[in-house]
Amino acid sequence: MSSVQEFYIDNEADMVVFGERIGRSLRAQSAFQCVFLNGDLGAGKTTLSRGILRAFGHQGAVKSPTYTLVEIYEFADRRLYHFDLYRLGDPEELEYMGIRDYFTEGSVCLMEWPERGQGVLPKPNVLIDIKVEGAGRKVLITGLDDIKA
Ligand code: ADP
Ligand code: MG
Repeated sequence: MSSVQEFYIDNEADMVVFGERIGRSLRAQSAFQCVFLNGDLGAGKTTLSRGILRAFGHQGAVKSPTYTLVEIYEFADRRLYHFDLYRLGDPEELEYMGIRDYFTEGSVCLMEWPERGQGVLPKPNVLIDIKVEGAGRKVLITGLDDIKA
């Protein structure tokens, strides 16, 4: 994997804008992509996901998939799966829901709490690590070389 890039994002609005930049970079690639979003509760994973989804053309609110495990967003050229595995009891449950069918060409998976799906999830193409720091967030990104302006 490529080197780690570090960013400091001051507030929620900037986090969404930053997510849009990441989303544009993801959109520029057509192959299947798996993005791991690591960070504690309240770190900003869903906020960043909202920005990523915006880059693909989703304008509305983003429901946190904490209870549904996954929310599906369909776009003209792409399908985006937003997972939150926080409440997953056992990674095997992912097998029962047929998760492997989601890992197909032309789709992008955003994974909150990927460690709860260990053994079943594919290797991430992009790793995003978010930490609370002061009033903002430190964001570390691995595997995305061309983060768009
Ligand atoms: P998570 O999905 O990691 O649990 P959320 O995206 O739901 O976290 O965000 C939790 C809180 O953090 C929200 O109140 C949001 O406004 C705030 N937040 C998100 N990004 C930032 C940021 N870069 N700086 C300050 N606050 C942020
Ligand atoms: Mg969340």
